[in-house]
Amino acid sequence: MLLKRCERLMDILEKHGIDGALITSKTNIRYFSNFTSDEAVLIVSRNGRSLLTDFRYTIQAKEQCGSAIDVIEVSRAIATDEITAALTRMGVKRCAFEDGYLTVRAFNSYKDLPVELVPMTPDIDRCRLVKDGYEIECLKKAQSIADAAFAELITKIHEGMTEKEVANELDYLLRVHGAEENSFDTIVGSGPNGALCHATPGARKLQKGDLVVIDFGCKYMGYCSDMTRTIAIGEPCDELKRIYDIVLKAQLTALDKLHPNMSAKELDGVARDIITQESYGECFGHSLGHGFGLDIHEAPYASTRSQDTLVPGSTITVEPGIYVEGLGGVRIEDDCVLTEDGFINLASTTKQLIII
Ligand code: ZN
Ligand code: ZN
Repeated sequence: MLLKRCERLMDILEKHGIDGALITSKTNIRYFSNFTSDEAVLIVSRNGRSLLTDFRYTIQAKEQCGSAIDVIEVSRAIATDEITAALTRMGVKRCAFEDGYLTVRAFNSYKDLPVELVPMTPDIDRCRLVKDGYEIECLKKAQSIADAAFAELITKIHEGMTEKEVANELDYLLRVHGAEENSFDTIVGSGPNGALCHATPGARKLQKGDLVVIDFGCKYMGYCSDMTRTIAIGEPCDELKRIYDIVLKAQLTALDKLHPNMSAKELDGVARDIITQESYGECFGHSLGHGFGLDIHEAPYASTRSQDTLVPGSTITVEPGIYVEGLGGVRIEDDCVLTEDGFINLASTTKQLIII
């Protein structure tokens, strides 16, 4: 599997006249070598693959990388002369690097390497666009943990609980159900705070009439889930109910139209048109969705300016929202995987408004 991934990377890079890659981001080190720390540099070429790491990680690296990658123990800081030696051994002349993730300090230390460095972040990242069967199983499991945790959470949420308490409880339940860690910091926005798309859970207590936006996810074998549900504490006012219904209609319609090889921009437009027709277009200021995998946000992206295509094996969230300052917000999000003849919606939690 690792060998195939590295060969695919080289297929792409060779089209640009590049004969090696210096992989330094945690996500791509994991994808191409299975090694789960970023205290390493991975060098990929047709003539070999080497992971350079220090004493603290060599046993772990050998176990995780298996036979596909040579693990080389180096001094604690990843020294450039050791990278030089590996690149020379492999005969690399033009070397792709991850300009999107490197610090200026690291980049400066690589300037003296005896290769031409070529910034290739988007091309390297796009190797992860199409998920294989193992990856899809991990994504399914990550979302099933999230569904189970949420089902238990809603039996515990009550008026007077703070947003922070809701987030803490949810994070705990995710761990109980098998999550390794969160995909991102849990978002809980109650009442007017729901209008903050990425609300940080705070001391505000849930009140009767609130809508509460809960956006969360967890990782399984490094793969991320991402789901949003908006629930009500008691009966919400007419405008909030109306907003909920519009967002739900936009979300369901987008799912109805979702199909393999459609343009991601077109999908965004399906949901956006519905929200705009209901005069809330200005209140939907973010894009409709994003891919997810080892990173919580990765290609493809469904936005008004996207040029991405939703090919089979790629992932996409469908997450329209309406946010009204001073009143509150609604977002409903599922995470989906495109297949040859349709898509799998990984989320199974109901989208009918849950009133606590
Ligand atoms: Zn989300
Ligand atoms: Zn999302």
